Amino acid sequence: YVRPEPISNPELLAVSPAALRDLAIDPATVDTPDFKETVAGNKILTWTEESAQESSSTSPEEQRKSQIYPWAQCYGGYQFGQWAGQLGDGRALSLFETTSPSGSRYELQLKGAGKTPYSRFADGKAVLRSSIREFVVSEALNALRIPSTRALSLTLAPEARVQRERVEPGAVVARFAQSWLRIGTFDLARSRGDRDLVRTLATYVGEEVFGGWDKLPGKLAEGDVAVTAVPEKVQRGVGKDELQGSGAEQENRFTRLYREIVRRNAVTVANWQAYAFTNGVLNTDNTSIFGLSIDFGPFAFLDNFDPAYTPNHDDHMLRYCYRNQPGVIWWNLVRLGESLGELIGAGERCDDEEFVNEGVAKSWADELIQRAENLIERAGEEYKAVFMDEYKRLMTARFGLKHFQDSDFDVLFSEWLDILEALELDFNHSFRKLSNLSTVEIGTEGARKEVAGRFFHHEGLTGLAKGKEDDARGRIAAWLEKWRGRVVEDWGEGEEKETERMGAMKKVNPKFIPRSWILDELIERVEKKGEREILNNIMTMALNPFEESWGWDRDEEERFCGDVPRYSRAMQCSCSS
Ligand code: AMP
Ligand code: MG
Ligand code: MG
Repeated sequence: YVRPEPISNPELLAVSPAALRDLAIDPATVDTPDFKETVAGNKILTWTEESAQESSSTSPEEQRKSQIYPWAQCYGGYQFGQWAGQLGDGRALSLFETTSPSGSRYELQLKGAGKTPYSRFADGKAVLRSSIREFVVSEALNALRIPSTRALSLTLAPEARVQRERVEPGAVVARFAQSWLRIGTFDLARSRGDRDLVRTLATYVGEEVFGGWDKLPGKLAEGDVAVTAVPEKVQRGVGKDELQGSGAEQENRFTRLYREIVRRNAVTVANWQAYAFTNGVLNTDNTSIFGLSIDFGPFAFLDNFDPAYTPNHDDHMLRYCYRNQPGVIWWNLVRLGESLGELIGAGERCDDEEFVNEGVAKSWADELIQRAENLIERAGEEYKAVFMDEYKRLMTARFGLKHFQDSDFDVLFSEWLDILEALELDFNHSFRKLSNLSTVEIGTEGARKEVAGRFFHHEGLTGLAKGKEDDARGRIAAWLEKWRGRVVEDWGEGEEKETERMGAMKKVNPKFIPRSWILDELIERVEKKGEREILNNIMTMALNPFEESWGWDRDEEERFCGDVPRYSRAMQCSCSS
């Protein structure tokens, strides 16, 4: 239990209208002192005058039971593949839980509101710079339909001087998620050998976070999991081994829980790959039990397509680069499988009194381990299958196709990625540009070669392709011909169909993506130049990324949706925040 540290003269910089909507908060309340002071950490909303007085006489335990005392969570984690021991919410604390009108259960948190029992050597604060980044990207991901923790508000603590490489202004982000539990939460219980705690935690997740065991996936029958090869471009580390082993009959509720967590994460990583989002620090404490994008440190969207890109300046081994994300999340999920190993390996005996109280008898320990290994391997097959299904679904839509065909993978998807990589072209812009292409326009070879130039940066081709513009145009044109064939096959020809298809593509291919250079400019303007309106304008774009324009200054809009400035591409961030 922990209370936020009050801040003096807080300035509410921005609120996410989408968050207000999803939490069913009346926008009119944003202007009230109650709202401002609550999201700044100066007021505990659930404390009335009386309960605040009572709070000195009642224990936090008692208050917690009546939902009024804020708390911080303890967790551990594997950082860059090494066990890092106990970590925990060092600068985040939860205020309360609430249920949205749509039935989602949310936990509202403040980040940067001061020290907690888990702050270790640090100050519990967050700087404005990293808070702006988290505020914008949480809501941007959600608007792109990528599962993510959310952000409600951004508050400046003008008088807080936070020491990092330099002294910086502090900030508090009010954020919310269906759950803030991480794989690291389970890691910690396991590292302590606390099998009761692992069971309590798993039971809590099954019953409270996912809303009941009946909400989890059903048992897998033999042959239910279809594994397709995952292309190297998109991932590495998974899909090399032929996995086998059945054990469907042994699935208890904990196995189904594990599979649910695996499936959710598979879907989320597929979204990251399809939209070229890189988290940058995929430690187990930054991998969500609910399958959310979580913890926004050095994250970035790719600019030019480069599978080896990592936004993390300190990630020398490229452990967390774009291509490695699916493999690394699976690595983390195996750690979770190990934490749950005893529970899932016990199969039908998981509730036997003897097992619950004393653990595994020697006589069946080997059997239990074998079974747990098999079940984790099966979950790995399911991970690949779910990942592939989701990735194909997203890419099929992004390329403007109605139905996926097996040949699309090599002929269209991989070849397009190869082209983007070889010619150093922008990943997300390329899809928006495709969305604007009519098949009539690219009917001839000459036209296709002409149109190919639209995918180049404004200064032309850069890097590798220098002096090879003709080849480049030829390669793009050849691809466009195949793409055109597939589009016509799926949609038919005619102006009406074209309009429909282009409209559909623009609903999945964003015009605006909060790139690193944009966030940098935003930070500069808010922090150094004292601008405020820009924050709302960028948020409007981030919240409505598929629009064509946003009613702001047209030139500014186009600049933020246009070419990434040459020397601001593929920027990296250090972890200090
Ligand atoms: P991260 O690299 O963001 O996953 O953070 C790793 C751990 O360090 C987490 O337990 C954070 O809560 C903690 N941490 C990071 N920055 C601070 C800070 N300024 N004060 C306290 N704890 C922090
Ligand atoms: Mg973290
Ligand atoms: Mg962090």
